[in-house]
Amino acid sequence: MSNDTLLARSLAAVWHPCTQMKHHETLPLIPISHGDGVWLVDSDGRRYLDAVSSWWVNLFGHNEPRIKAAIHSQLDRIEHVMLAGFTHEPVIELSERLGSLTGLGHAFYGSDGASATEIALKMAAHFWRNTGRPDKSRFVYLQDSYHGETLGALSVTDVPIFRDAYAPLIRDNFMVMSPDARQAQAGESAVDVAERAAMQLEQTLAAHHQEIAALIVEPLVQGAAGMALYDAHYLRRARELCDRYQILLIADEIAVGFGRTGTMFACEQAGIRPDLMCLSKGITAGYLPLAVVLCSDTLYTAFYDDSSTRAFLHSHSYTGNPLACAAALATLDIFRDDAVISSNRSKAAAFSAGPFAALAAHPRIRNWRQQGMIWAGDVSDAPAGFARQLFLAALQHGLLLRPIGATLYFMPPYILNGDDAALLAHGTLAALDSVLRP
Ligand SMILES: *Cc1c(COP(=O)(O)O)cnc(C)c1O
Repeated sequence: MSNDTLLARSLAAVWHPCTQMKHHETLPLIPISHGDGVWLVDSDGRRYLDAVSSWWVNLFGHNEPRIKAAIHSQLDRIEHVMLAGFTHEPVIELSERLGSLTGLGHAFYGSDGASATEIALKMAAHFWRNTGRPDKSRFVYLQDSYHGETLGALSVTDVPIFRDAYAPLIRDNFMVMSPDARQAQAGESAVDVAERAAMQLEQTLAAHHQEIAALIVEPLVQGAAGMALYDAHYLRRARELCDRYQILLIADEIAVGFGRTGTMFACEQAGIRPDLMCLSKGITAGYLPLAVVLCSDTLYTAFYDDSSTRAFLHSHSYTGNPLACAAALATLDIFRDDAVISSNRSKAAAFSAGPFAALAAHPRIRNWRQQGMIWAGDVSDAPAGFARQLFLAALQHGLLLRPIGATLYFMPPYILNGDDAALLAHGTLAALDSVLRP
């Protein structure tokens, strides 16, 4: 079916996410017919390099044969069974493997990132209730944080455009300074900024620890803030302060987990272990919705009791879906079989020094930065509507780019090769010049 027909039908019947639908009177909506590695192909046969990994979920490209095979093979056994009162091999093996990768040995499942945030917040507050501290029920979050868009997640998210309309529905929590390295003042290093933020965190914890259940952070990279990077020093200090003030540490690795920042999990770079870790997005390499909250023995044990009221009575219909778990296991196999972490490390270095160097040198790009398989830069004096204009211009060059405000970023599938990276850099520069040159 042609693009035009599909467009009209979609606009009539589908309410698209994170979109003012009226903008589609002028903005194109692109009907994707299939995927091929890093490429998305529309129903008229045009190809777009997926430089944002389809909203940060895709790791190994579209149409990856090993993950497809794993899902097919699971489909011949059992597609879904409720996880209350029942269990199955994929969920057992996945929980064991995630436990041994993180040192957090108990896995509670949900379906999307935001459901993992909700689970972690509820679990943290309930933990304190079970240990006789019911007043510890509020949370600390970072400025410019993003943890999802359900109501609980919004209460620890600092993105006004997602939050303001729902302000009356959202519970008040404590916001502290972001350790974003771009806030460095004259002579300050990234570590200095991290230390300054940690000192502010300490003031908040010292004053309010009696009512605080947990601190929630996006380790190393605040993605939705515009790929704000910060030094691992902050995570070490946060771990230490949480221990001192008896506060749980929740690591939201929904975007950064599964190799995105250069290690399997971002917390590894700080050498810390959180009490709770939220995972989703890359967990199935972008194949099926799945989320998990991993937690420590201490946390789990506080719920283990004869009484149901001390249990974690939370559930989602598709909790621990076997097909999604099979996709996640195939994803972990690829990390092992293809030595993904070390191969990404050399790729990232080669792209940074090679094709992406032109972006770093561009006169209108400030703060060009890289962390693992993430690159970002801030466009100075960006015109109004820059993000939308660049998105459009990039499509003309066969690229899917989706700037956040004036921040241009690449978060490509890990299978991006040198030729793709060169195409991506050239197309981005051309799109940028067409938007910046009136
Ligand atoms: C995307 C994201 C979420 C929310 O995940 P959804 O699957 O979109 O609900 C939460 N935290 C972070 C850091 C994210 O990037």
